Amino acid sequence: MTVSPFDPAQLHAFETALSERRRELNLESQRLADTFAGVQSSRSDGSADGAHDAEASSLRTEWSRMSGFQGEAVEELAAIDRALQRIVDGSYGLCVRGGERIPQGRLEIKPAADLCIMCAEKAAPRRR
Ligand SMILES: [Zn+2]
Repeated sequence: MTVSPFDPAQLHAFETALSERRRELNLESQRLADTFAGVQSSRSDGSADGAHDAEASSLRTEWSRMSGFQGEAVEELAAIDRALQRIVDGSYGLCVRGGERIPQGRLEIKPAADLCIMCAEKAAPRRR
């Protein structure tokens, strides 16, 4: 059986950080969705076709920026949910691959981290 290396007070602090981060991501993704909806509706209002191409291209830029963020946000939200689940089941702070302790400093920067630094580097050598 794996047991989290952290005591309940530390776990609670991580849980708070994770919930806070989840709230921020949800707000940000909502804000972007609203912005994008605004761009779309202001575009359909105008019947002048002169700037059509420029608008279409700015819409595409907005869209790709938003969908890029949304993709990352979805991934991070999933990681946060898994981390919260590990707090519940008592395995938080342990590498999900090797079972090593994840250094506390790493978790303070990235509370949703589920791999120790070694495994993270092996898993994604080009992504930091
Ligand atoms: Zn590991």
